[in-house]
Amino acid sequence: MRIDQDISRATSEALYAKAKTYFPGGVNSPVRAFKSVEGSPLFIKRGNGCRIWDEDNNEFIDFCCSWGPLILGHNHPAVYENVVKTLQNGASFGAPTRLENELAELILSRNHYIDKLRFVSSGTEAVMSAIRLARGCTGRSKILKFEGCYHGHVDALLVKAGSGLVTFGESSSAGVPEALANETVVIALNDHEALKKCFEQIGGEIACAIIEPIPANNGLLLQEKNFLLELKELCEKYGVLLLFDEVISGFRVAFNGAAEYYGIKPDIVTYGKIIGGGLPVGAYGASKEIMGFVSPDGPVYQAGTLSGNPVAMAAGIAQLTECAKPGFYEELKSKTDRFVGKINDHASNNGYPFEMVTIGSIFWLSFNGKKRIHSAAEIDPDMSGFKRMHKELLNRGVYLGPSGYEVGFVSQAHSEEDLNRAAEIFCEVLDRIF
Ligand code: PMP
Repeated sequence: MRIDQDISRATSEALYAKAKTYFPGGVNSPVRAFKSVEGSPLFIKRGNGCRIWDEDNNEFIDFCCSWGPLILGHNHPAVYENVVKTLQNGASFGAPTRLENELAELILSRNHYIDKLRFVSSGTEAVMSAIRLARGCTGRSKILKFEGCYHGHVDALLVKAGSGLVTFGESSSAGVPEALANETVVIALNDHEALKKCFEQIGGEIACAIIEPIPANNGLLLQEKNFLLELKELCEKYGVLLLFDEVISGFRVAFNGAAEYYGIKPDIVTYGKIIGGGLPVGAYGASKEIMGFVSPDGPVYQAGTLSGNPVAMAAGIAQLTECAKPGFYEELKSKTDRFVGKINDHASNNGYPFEMVTIGSIFWLSFNGKKRIHSAAEIDPDMSGFKRMHKELLNRGVYLGPSGYEVGFVSQAHSEEDLNRAAEIFCEVLDRIF
């Protein structure tokens, strides 16, 4: 099949024109604007299983999956039923409900890394609260983060590395005071020397080291396990709390996320995305002792009108019940591996400088040749290959998040047949590009 024409987007374009009069950039979250692929966004009308339809009735196999939350695909019957059943009793009470206990029980009974958690309404809120908790219980103010890891739009983490091996951060967004950015130290991923230097120089002042143990917001920068182990060791030595931001990896690579995948116990964990079954839920958790610092038990204040919202809890309960079934992650991984394998074999047989990097059911399109990269600085900033790929895939009915730095997700709803079809389309597009 050779497709030279772009799909029709007349309705999406009209909606986008209107949206631009309502919202900055026409969107309520920047990456949705299709800026980095130089297109205009598709407005989505509905989703079912692994498919979505836009307002012009174009149909796509979806690998964005709402940026990760939809591990069961769109409109999963168990999630749908539990949401509707719960909503019939009212949307929110601002008082506890048994559903919060149920979701907590589902998580904590399987999780050996944390004793207690607190539900919030987004990944950003989880991270922001976890950072305050780390500062509150250590009495220290500095934070260590890694270049290329994204932790939501928390002031102290909208920070990029300055020059030098161990540097205090520079804010990467207007509106973040330098004084705050200076409390964050940023070093490169997978850089053992910088890590050691950092702890030697200021280890005693750091409240927590925050890392995406599977960095998946700036390419898929898989870390060597021994880097994570070294970080854990140094944290222990210097009394620094190790904070795993598992907003993407939690319930994705294993039920208990990267902590379970690598067998490394963090001191504090943050969750988001999958935990809420497509509705807004985040959480942070830790040992009883650390969580004892959180209000109203302790002095670290944190609250939320809609925290633990019953409808969102119901979606999370339904989704995580499916995820907890035996073999769920093994099956998801093996079908992802087969899908990725087909595309990588095709690229490799034809000598294309392209590889799909994968872990669990996450994949990233790497236009960096065969070189395995582990840090942000190694990514080729030329995204022209991805831009073409994105456009050609859309024209053939495959939807990816509109940025070459973002990862894609396979859900339980992607059947072998869907994945075979998608793999054929990927290969055809690769032939066109190279
Ligand atoms: N942490 C990580 C690792 C994330 O991937 C994200 C979102 N992509 C966040 C935090 C922020 O989550 P949210 O967008 O729900 O605020």
